[in-house]
Amino acid sequence: MTNSVTTTQPEPSSLKKAWLYFSRSARLKCPVCGESPLYKPVSKVRSVNDWFQTLSGCPKCNYVYDQEPGYFMLAIWTLDYGPACIFGIAVLAFLTNFFNLSTVQLLIFTLIPTLVFAVLIVRHAKAFYLAMDHYFFHK
Ligand SMILES: [Zn+2]
Repeated sequence: MTNSVTTTQPEPSSLKKAWLYFSRSARLKCPVCGESPLYKPVSKVRSVNDWFQTLSGCPKCNYVYDQEPGYFMLAIWTLDYGPACIFGIAVLAFLTNFFNLSTVQLLIFTLIPTLVFAVLIVRHAKAFYLAMDHYFFHK
């Protein structure tokens, strides 16, 4: 007796699958099912931890978001700090070219927006990392 699996929907192509995971991550949804959120809604964030930490997993498809301690370290370094550094350099270049500011003013007007930018994009950095991990290693 053979156990054949029949699927009604064909497997999407690799590029379509990549776009699907990317779009789910952009909406901060589970990369597998695309329906459950990755984080608490912004209206229910009560602490810094609520903002930074993903939910434990997807209640619909049981995909575990935070798969091990330190799982999102690469996401933080590459997809959060990297863009934040580029943003900070762009802000600094803009300020030095168009305004005559002291060094302290340049530091304040560069570091504060850069820190805010890094905090704002951290959820998407983790979401994109989770989608890339699922795309490349959990097919
Ligand atoms: Zn899911």
